[in-house]
Amino acid sequence: MTERVINLKSFFEEARAGRLTGIRCGGCGELAIPSKEFCASCQKRDWKPVPLAGAGTIVSFTVIRVAPRGRGGEVPYAVAVVKLEEGLSLLGRVVDIPFETLKAGLPVRFRPVQIDSQTVIGFGPA
Ligand SMILES: [Zn+2]
Repeated sequence: MTERVINLKSFFEEARAGRLTGIRCGGCGELAIPSKEFCASCQKRDWKPVPLAGAGTIVSFTVIRVAPRGRGGEVPYAVAVVKLEEGLSLLGRVVDIPFETLKAGLPVRFRPVQIDSQTVIGFGPA
């Protein structure tokens, strides 16, 4: 179980099913997003998976209007750095929130977003 959710592939498999998973350091209790080798705070490698509620608030955001190569059909879209209730910050795609209402402090909730066959982290209305 521990190994299963620690690598990045599993992190996205869980996310695809709507479950956001963090990891907590057994040494000092630091929370992080997979995958990490060593804890930045205490240098241990003793991660345990922890379910994250997925609720948070926008810290900052950017509207992407010029697409990366091959992604022309997706623009414009917004990406935001979201601070989760648990204290972690995470970058995600904004979905179902009009750009003009985006602002720092806006409550949002995690949801998986399918782009082509890939799952990415998304945030929609709380
Ligand atoms: Zn630690």
